[in-house]
Amino acid sequence: MLVQKPAGKYDVVVIGGGMVGASFACELVRTNEGRELRILVVEANKPHATAVSDPGFDARTTALSFGSRQIFERMGLWSDLQEFATPIATIQITDKGHFGSTQIDREEQEVEALGYVVENQALGTCLSRALEIAAGIEFLCPATIASISPTPAGMALDVQLQEEIHPVAARLVVLADGGKSPICRQLGIGHTTKQYEQYALIANIAFEKAHQHIAFERFTDTGPLAVLPLPDLERQHRGSLVWTVTAQQAQDYQSMSEPELLKRLMERFGNRLGQIQHIGARFCYPLSLSVANEQIRPGLVLLGNVAHTLHPVAGQGLNLALRDVQALVRILTEALARELSPGDMTVLQRYLESQQADQERVISFTDWASRLFSTNRQMPIMARKAGLLAFTLLPPLRREFARHAMGLAAGR
Ligand SMILES: Cc1cc2nc3c(=O)[nH]c(=O)nc-3n(C[C@H](O)[C@H](O)[C@H](O)COP(=O)(O)OP(=O)(O)OC[C@H]3O[C@@H](n4cnc5c(N)ncnc54)[C@H](O)[C@@H]3O)c2cc1C
Repeated sequence: MLVQKPAGKYDVVVIGGGMVGASFACELVRTNEGRELRILVVEANKPHATAVSDPGFDARTTALSFGSRQIFERMGLWSDLQEFATPIATIQITDKGHFGSTQIDREEQEVEALGYVVENQALGTCLSRALEIAAGIEFLCPATIASISPTPAGMALDVQLQEEIHPVAARLVVLADGGKSPICRQLGIGHTTKQYEQYALIANIAFEKAHQHIAFERFTDTGPLAVLPLPDLERQHRGSLVWTVTAQQAQDYQSMSEPELLKRLMERFGNRLGQIQHIGARFCYPLSLSVANEQIRPGLVLLGNVAHTLHPVAGQGLNLALRDVQALVRILTEALARELSPGDMTVLQRYLESQQADQERVISFTDWASRLFSTNRQMPIMARKAGLLAFTLLPPLRREFARHAMGLAAGR
């Protein structure tokens, strides 16, 4: 529930009520129903509007894996999210100007959908509303953290609420404040970062033909271009574009006239869905891989983008973070049942060990894929041709890849 100010001691303080921090707090409170935990979520931005406004042409989207759907289902949030989620029935992967294409189908994977595309606004509103109504969560926003320092019992925080400072103690701080974390800098936690010298151009587009629930991933000489299915709006067939471009193209495409940009886009995407008729507001993000050098300290754990920011090539960032959330909540719940402190280093170490292999696999896969599919030098083209061909000819390989992409790999 929304609170006016924080008070005293908490078991867990979550810094950042974005998609990851909010999911963690909701899942922790649900799993520990009946246990009197004090949980505070501090979020710098104002809460989302309580009603989801109409989806339109300015909305950004996230592809949720089937595994993430199952996580939201367990959290009791899927029933609210479902009406805003477009199922993906097929993923079609092609390589512009080169032989080789492959397809992953939901029938082959024996699932209802390979994943779901949800507009970020709907996801954010749904999670924010869950924070506002959860009886076991104190949700404070807009507020930030003026300072943080370790204590023998956990962490001491100064919460900044307008001009006032409120001291707070936490047995565990869950840092989920995104990729630019000044708090990490304050704590001296560094990141290993690799700039891809690429940008993601994000926009919603309208097509002549219906998408038939196909997600298109097309590899071009500058980088991958993905079009994800969205619901029709006012009889327009909509898709969500994630187009990897160079710095110069990012600059040019943002100011280019709509007819000229649509012409460029048609050259890259082809006419799979007929003419591209309209492109909405354009957003550009610089792409990098950034991994925290430390994810845990006594009384502290990093979650989401502050722990690992990935290239969006395979739509894995939030999906991986949700699996981290699930693992952390499970291990904290076991520790609380044994009356251990949630900030105990042995508890946090168990969490890290349980997620290490998953994190390493996803980080190296997205890094590999972004490099492989972002260049037109001869060798990588041969390699990706071979890769796509192997994919088509070897269904078990494709099935294994699809299970990872759906967040359903072994052990999860
Ligand atoms: C172009 C693009 C496309 C993507 N597509 C996909 C996809 O299809 N599928 C997928 O799984 N992932 C995707 N991702 C990744 C996904 O968006 C991220 O994994 C996700 O947004 C991370 O959420 P977060 O909560 O960690 O960080 P953020 O969303 O950055 O949230 C951090 C929150 O912390 C708050 N905050 C910051 N500082 C403070 C402070 N001092 N005090 C209090 N609050 C603070 C902020 O206001 C914010 O609300 C994509 C990313 C990009 C860039």
